[in-house]
Amino acid sequence: MASEISTARPEDDAVLSGTVSVLIPLALPKPYDYKVPPGMEVRAGSYVVVPLGTQEIVGVVWGEGSGEVGHNRLKAIGEVIDAPPMPGVLRRFIDWVAQYTVSPAGSVLRLAIRAPGALEPPRMRIAYRLGSQRPPRMTPARQRVIEVAGDGFARTVRELAEEAGVSDSVVRGLVASQVLVQVDIPAEAPFPDPLAAVKTVSLSAEQGEAAARLAAAVAARKFSATLLDGVTGSGKTEVYFEAVAAALAQGKQVLILLPEIALTSQFLERFERRFGCRPAEWHSDLASRERRRVWRGVAEGRAQVVAGARSALFLPFSDLGLIIVDEEHDAAFKQEDGVPYHARDMAVVRASLGHLPIILSSATPSLETSVNVQQGKYDVVRLAERHGEALLPQVSAIDMRADPPERGRWLSPVLVTEMVKALAAGEQSMLFLNRRGYAPLTLCRTCGHRIECPQCSAWLVEHRFRRELACHHCGYTAPVPKACPSCGAEDALVACGPGVERIAEEVAEIFPEARIAIVSSDNLRGPAAHEEIFAAIEAREIDIIIGTQIVAKGHHFPWLTLVGVVDADLGLENGDLRAGERTYQLLQQVAGRAGRAERPGRVFLQSFMPEHGVMRALVSGKRDEFLAREAQARERVGLPPFGRLAGIVVSAPDAALAQRVARDMARIAPRADDVTVLGPAPAPLALLRGRTRLRFLVKAGRQVNIQAFLHAWLDDFKVPNAVRISVDVDPYSFM
Ligand SMILES: [Zn+2]
Ligand SMILES: [Zn+2]
Repeated sequence: MASEISTARPEDDAVLSGTVSVLIPLALPKPYDYKVPPGMEVRAGSYVVVPLGTQEIVGVVWGEGSGEVGHNRLKAIGEVIDAPPMPGVLRRFIDWVAQYTVSPAGSVLRLAIRAPGALEPPRMRIAYRLGSQRPPRMTPARQRVIEVAGDGFARTVRELAEEAGVSDSVVRGLVASQVLVQVDIPAEAPFPDPLAAVKTVSLSAEQGEAAARLAAAVAARKFSATLLDGVTGSGKTEVYFEAVAAALAQGKQVLILLPEIALTSQFLERFERRFGCRPAEWHSDLASRERRRVWRGVAEGRAQVVAGARSALFLPFSDLGLIIVDEEHDAAFKQEDGVPYHARDMAVVRASLGHLPIILSSATPSLETSVNVQQGKYDVVRLAERHGEALLPQVSAIDMRADPPERGRWLSPVLVTEMVKALAAGEQSMLFLNRRGYAPLTLCRTCGHRIECPQCSAWLVEHRFRRELACHHCGYTAPVPKACPSCGAEDALVACGPGVERIAEEVAEIFPEARIAIVSSDNLRGPAAHEEIFAAIEAREIDIIIGTQIVAKGHHFPWLTLVGVVDADLGLENGDLRAGERTYQLLQQVAGRAGRAERPGRVFLQSFMPEHGVMRALVSGKRDEFLAREAQARERVGLPPFGRLAGIVVSAPDAALAQRVARDMARIAPRADDVTVLGPAPAPLALLRGRTRLRFLVKAGRQVNIQAFLHAWLDDFKVPNAVRISVDVDPYSFM
């Protein structure tokens, strides 16, 4: 994926006539031909309204017509939309992603035009400015309005009335007598220029050297991929901001991709400290009006820096000059629904197609990226020191067999003693457990019945604060029953295992005077709630934080010195090929929260297997040895990145139907060298939202064209309407 892709196509926005092909944002494999009516100017990339069946739909002109349908039977384009044509590089990217993920190109296009109203003409609003007329009669109220308007800026009636402290009717009177004249201004706020108020920063010698190398990659104006590999707290963000500044100085746009969860006000404020304004944001919480503004601003080159979640990759940048993928190892970059794509991998493709540099930043790089560095495909820039006075935290394992918690409790006395010390010193502690709710399982003591979701093969998780049982896969909820639903025994149901709520209960018992906060997606709805809790932690209004993975990422808490991982073995339970790597990355990120200022940090991992390679690597800090061992293990069995994988899930509401279709599929699987088809087997989540699921896994050698194999297998395979077949190239979830 790192090699340069040939892209010479001079006809990027050529005017086309006669017949053109138009890609429509529906699950269609290829564009359809349409006629260009005489006198209409249509370019490659133009957004056009075309008839489809009885509807009209917005599509994108993809190129010359295919000529497959006779000219006299073709329908004509209805209208060309007034927006900059989709850049050729984005059209090629959409084709590339469709080909790689074995998805219809129309489905990928939908990712790129998903901003409601973006293609409508820009909205204007009516405002007023001081004209040359004087009022026929001057009053003190009128005088105040004229003074406010005297600065020359256009304002609405309401704004003028508010600033002058008068009623709307005073302003309207001045409009009627033409003292104020009407002007139309864009309804949307303009994008600030990040270079206008740029601040200087002081970097350490190591940071300065790293920043200079990244800036040199930007100056080269060609494709390169660089891993920015820096320990937590080493100032990676400040360093890559220098590359951002270099790209902006060239007049180029910049895309910063972050896992959605890391797109917090803390990140935006850091950006603002450096550049004097916030970047444009792109994520799922954005109001549709703001999505429209950003989409349009990006297309017209007015928005220069976008900080966004994975779908920002499909924005129509007019002149992109740099991509940064922060926390590049994060699994949140993998989209699981719809078109399954990995935003980090596709970002590298986008950079290659656009001949521009990409920077992948992480304290715990993915194995895929580490191997690319070793093989010389990616450059690497390292930051080995924490910034300022801070030292890396001291990590120890607590052997839960030797120092077990008291009966009915989950915290080892060793960890509790450390928490007492931190509290006495006025410092903060954080307990990490990647499990929402109170207890992951509710069990009947009388008959052994486990309460499961009726629609999924998964246990219902007890949420004690909300007094309900919830399925974390489909959202099903039910009140906690009084009696066992199986045997009817009263008061026989017991909660098994801890979630964050249960840990909070235990902490409140041990430290009744401590101020405790639970940080999990159930307690925090929306970005405002996040900001509030993180501000409270920074302001030392919280003593003990109990959190899920939300707390692991990117936050800087200067008073946090102790981190306790409640169940360090948790992620190792599933047999997924990346279980070790992911557990290491997550716990290393969590550990990195401790001791980020002057006070040294301590980290304790509660584990029943402290001898496990992941625990040893965390305690010793020997990350590269750990990665090398993981790489060897995967290479031995030909797993990614040394081999290729694709997952296929066949699902249907009817179990027998799903099984029959999966068997039929297995029968017609093509034979190819170096390709093994495993399955069908019931998926670990054999029932999801009421659908029975069966899985195939296609395992192939590195050089095999796995997409061609999948097309040969599935393209002509007809399935009943109720059956869904989802293909996932490079799967990250094996559920
Ligand atoms: Zn029972
Ligand atoms: Zn469910």
